[in-house]
Amino acid sequence: SLPLVAIVGRPNVGKSSLFNRILRQKKAITHDRSGVTRDSLFGEVTHLEKPFTMVDTGGLVLETPQELEEEILEQAREAIYAADLILFVVDGRQGLTGMDEDVCAYLRQSGKDVVLVVNKVDGPELEETLATEFYALGFPLTCVSAAHGFGISVLQDLIEERL
Ligand code: GDP
Ligand code: MG
Repeated sequence: SLPLVAIVGRPNVGKSSLFNRILRQKKAITHDRSGVTRDSLFGEVTHLEKPFTMVDTGGLVLETPQELEEEILEQAREAIYAADLILFVVDGRQGLTGMDEDVCAYLRQSGKDVVLVVNKVDGPELEETLATEFYALGFPLTCVSAAHGFGISVLQDLIEERL
């Protein structure tokens, strides 16, 4: 079976937008409201040199009603457990939040290979200012705009190097 790449992060950072962008399909629903992705969604990326399966998770930290929350968290944990590589997505415009730090701690203790993806960097001129505070998390880092496509080919190269 193909290697598995899991997209993980707090709600609203653009995980589903990134999933769609890499997949080149509008498969995942994206929304400017938190907690829209509930079930983990799988897609096969076959247009790159090294094909892989990608999973968009509902987010490790949630603001949904209690009974849904445990189920979504469990799906995210399962995706992380099964993954060969994690794309840890954060929002460059919003900056580093406490929820990002919670996700970070969870990923660090998972021992998985992680690439930190600073999303919503909608152009190269924003890269330097928006990425700065995220270097402290200690993961290899790259900037993208899932909405506009900036940085996606660099990210894809990074993924393929690590699979
Ligand atoms: P998720 O909850 O992490 O899956 O996030 P979504 O993919 O649903 O996106 C959340 C919001 O962020 C939506 O309103 C998106 O349009 C917006 N968004 C996602 N990617 C980008 C980006 O690269 N730049 C900007 N400016 N907005 C983005
Ligand atoms: Mg989503």
